[in-house]
Amino acid sequence: MLRNLLRLVAIFVVIAIVRVVVGMIVNFFKGLSTAPGERESPAASTGPGVPLSAGLLVKDPVCGTFVSVGTSLQKSVEGETFHFCSAACRDKFKGKVQGEPRA
Ligand SMILES: [Zn+2]
Repeated sequence: MLRNLLRLVAIFVVIAIVRVVVGMIVNFFKGLSTAPGERESPAASTGPGVPLSAGLLVKDPVCGTFVSVGTSLQKSVEGETFHFCSAACRDKFKGKVQGEPRA
């Protein structure tokens, strides 16, 4: 009777130790896997379908092409900055602002 009790206690102690050790191992691997993931998550949240290497992409309001802010032609109209893929688009937009109907 007492032997069985001791055996039961021993089993519980072993289970408790195993759980603690497994928990430590799981937390260790969780820490390894979340570190690079945290670095990627802010960039991934910038938007669907936007290549990260191209920087911030904005839509050319004239032709609808997405252009990189760094490489686009920019024009400020009434305090708002617009980005264009080419000088032709930029010039067309100038006309639109003056009230030209959409082509
Ligand atoms: Zn364009």
